[in-house]
Amino acid sequence: MHYHWRALLGILMLLCVMASQPLHAQTSEAIQVISSSARPDFPNEIVFALEATSSAAAISTVQLLYGPTRSEAALIVDLEPPAQPQVRLEHRLDTQVYYYPPGTEMSYRWLIRDADGNSIETPVQQFVYTDERFGWQERTVGEVTIFWYAGGDAFGDAVAGTVEQTLSNLSNTLKASLRAPVRIYIYASIPDMYSALQANSAEWIGGQANTGLGVIVAAIAPDNEREIRRMIPHELSHQVLHQHIENPYGNLPRWLDEGLAVHHQEVRDREYDQLLIEAAQENRLIPLEALASSFPADPDQAQLSYAQSRSIVEYILDTYGEEPLQTMIMAFAEATPVEEAVQSALGMSVDELDAAWRSELPAATMPAPDLSGPQVAPQDRFRDPPVLPVGAINPVPTPTPAPTTLGDRVAALPAWVTLGGSALFCLTGVVLLAVVLLVALRRIGVDKRN
Ligand SMILES: [Zn+2]
Repeated sequence: MHYHWRALLGILMLLCVMASQPLHAQTSEAIQVISSSARPDFPNEIVFALEATSSAAAISTVQLLYGPTRSEAALIVDLEPPAQPQVRLEHRLDTQVYYYPPGTEMSYRWLIRDADGNSIETPVQQFVYTDERFGWQERTVGEVTIFWYAGGDAFGDAVAGTVEQTLSNLSNTLKASLRAPVRIYIYASIPDMYSALQANSAEWIGGQANTGLGVIVAAIAPDNEREIRRMIPHELSHQVLHQHIENPYGNLPRWLDEGLAVHHQEVRDREYDQLLIEAAQENRLIPLEALASSFPADPDQAQLSYAQSRSIVEYILDTYGEEPLQTMIMAFAEATPVEEAVQSALGMSVDELDAAWRSELPAATMPAPDLSGPQVAPQDRFRDPPVLPVGAINPVPTPTPAPTTLGDRVAALPAWVTLGGSALFCLTGVVLLAVVLLVALRRIGVDKRN
């Protein structure tokens, strides 16, 4: 339907700032809101509904503005009111397409105009997009609320204990604490959790965390206390650090973020020690500078990245204490570049820190491998390396790497094939972009004439 396309285009084309400015309802004598509501039905949809009336003229424009409360941006949907003084409108947001994790705090408001030029903006309304399909128990520890449905009070006690301990550890090490609520949803099996994640999430995901929204989604079997003590501190560390830095554009290096997260786990990943020693001897350690942004997609290289990150954080803690880490984190809160932040905290460059740390590891007995060529970044920074989150009940298959990587296959092709392929790929991209732009522009044109 036409309305459907308009709504979709509205979502795609328009962005505005909502959460950053306080909003007040504008009083208009003429326009009255009879009812305004949002009916969440996780994980399928959110239905926004409005009934409004104008005593002066037909309602001419209705816009819905919605988005996560913690996000700066709101999405706008143009609804098409019938040319009547009293209207009742609905917008169905398909959350299989526009995904929000369970526990997302949502905000919305309406902009309404009539044919006489009267307009009102409704006050912001909020709700939490919760997963109502399970009978959640809940427990709050400080800013953290834990939701679980299997394992009874004993399970809740175990998670609450770990949360409390982790918050205390983070406060001691980093002088950092949560400033806004964090919700932890613990599903009892992988299939249950997958039903709450975005479609097509990578199969080995044991949990997902969104620091911007203050949400952690995990799969932990009721009897798997080990996984509670591994995953919960790890994900909480990310949440605390990101809230503490409070700067989404701060360039917190990934080795510091993940290194602190792995360090704070109550269950230590023992295999990392061996990984490090082997990588050092075989001259395969990844330069620290390369661990500042995304980690490699290759599972073995990703594991090594986590192992190195933990090791470097613990090297700093053991050698210089907690203060340099606190100094560094404060610098990142002010969006200080990595090189400068490390220099100010430790009095050395990133390369010097890397060299000092390596000097404590076994010496290399092999020549360095050739690491040139493009490296593929993982799609999502919240995805941690493969783990077995639900133990005996529902083991997750560890991904088996393909016998040859895509890079190897491409490298094996003749030069004319790769060149031709690249040219075709670029051309297709340009043509697609042009078509999308043309359609979008035409649609906007149509909308303006109406
Ligand atoms: Zn992590």
